[in-house]
Amino acid sequence: MKLVKTRQELADIVTQWHRAGETIGVVPTMGSLHAGHLALVKALDGKATRRIVTIFVNPIQFNNPDDFHLYPRGLEADAALLEETGGVDILYAPDETQIYAPGFSTRVVVSGLDAMLCGGDRPGHFDGVATIVTKLFMQTRADIAAFGEKDFQQLCIVRRLVQDLDLPVSILPVPTVREADQLALSSRNRRLTPVQRARAAHLPASLHTCIAELKAGKNLETCLKTCWHDLEEAGFTVHYLELRSGKNLQATQPSDPSARLFVAASLGDVRLIDNMPLC
Ligand code: AMP
Repeated sequence: MKLVKTRQELADIVTQWHRAGETIGVVPTMGSLHAGHLALVKALDGKATRRIVTIFVNPIQFNNPDDFHLYPRGLEADAALLEETGGVDILYAPDETQIYAPGFSTRVVVSGLDAMLCGGDRPGHFDGVATIVTKLFMQTRADIAAFGEKDFQQLCIVRRLVQDLDLPVSILPVPTVREADQLALSSRNRRLTPVQRARAAHLPASLHTCIAELKAGKNLETCLKTCWHDLEEAGFTVHYLELRSGKNLQATQPSDPSARLFVAASLGDVRLIDNMPLC
């Protein structure tokens, strides 16, 4: 695996690959890699002849400067993990100068999908995501890119932008990888204290319970209220808990086969998100 830090070096390599008829698979990440990220790399097996993992903590998608500064970083450990796992040709870890040159003033805005759920209380977040994803697709010349269902709204937004801008990239969704206690793997989990980490398991457990009750035919509003209350009892501050269509993220009913339960909740200053399908 080669560590590449400049867009020029990356451009030279990917241009050659394209000339040679290679298929380029890309996994965009913000680093602090874990088994969830590795599952995205693995999902490209048989779908790409070359694989690039990108690591860039994207400042323009953080609307809270503290969250940006506290976001865990560790390039050496990430590189070692990828090297040990194998199958990655390039780790592209640009610094900000390679992404946002002085005077940078463009934003990619995916209207509609960006204002709900995580977009509701994080204004501008998904503009930052859509902008960096578009830039990384162009810089890596990706043919296929893997995204986790863990960030389901992000996945929907990326699919929409690829379709709307005619970007020549296939989007590969990858199911959420979870710990033994069902907590979705996340780089943010490292910021939880041991007590918070133990409590965090209430998040997937509450979703499972809520889904079971919905499947048993209980009233949607009542189930959501109970689940919200259970999470607060467990020490969470709940930002949203909603049933939405997995197709277009619109509010939906349990009878919708694409329905998913979406949650964002914080323990202390660590914001966790999760989502699960009803079916
Ligand atoms: P991040 O580094 O958190 O921005 O995530 C980079 C990519 O990894 C995104 O496509 C995420 O959805 C995906 N990802 C993060 N956590 C998981 C997980 N637990 N399971 C599957 N994919 C994940």
